Amino acid sequence: MRELTCIVCPRGCHLTVTEDLKVTGAACPRGERYAVAEMTDPRRTVTTSVYIEKGDVAMLSVKTSEAVPKACIEKVLEEAGALKLTAPVQVGQVLIRKVAGTQANLVATRKVREVRCE
Ligand code: SF4
Repeated sequence: MRELTCIVCPRGCHLTVTEDLKVTGAACPRGERYAVAEMTDPRRTVTTSVYIEKGDVAMLSVKTSEAVPKACIEKVLEEAGALKLTAPVQVGQVLIRKVAGTQANLVATRKVREVRCE
């Protein structure tokens, strides 16, 4: 048996999951789906910031386009940290396709304008 807090919505239901994946404590079906997924294939959307050159800001916030297996999070962060970016970048721009060998892309979550020194 395992105890979890549902993170799907702010209510944060306290869930209990048995070995045969029976879920109690969920106030809605989304919590049951979350608990089963957490027991069988836990995933997270990864968010971080990376350096960008010649932009109006020094750091660009990025995220995975979908949740990736928890075991891949470190590799996603490694690949993001190795990026060499130069402005401009558009919001939603794909920076790494199939990051860390997953089905997710790493995308920009904001626009960065190019700054010219003229
Ligand atoms: S079980 Fe449903 S109501 Fe409860 S936290 Fe999860 S999503 Fe929200």
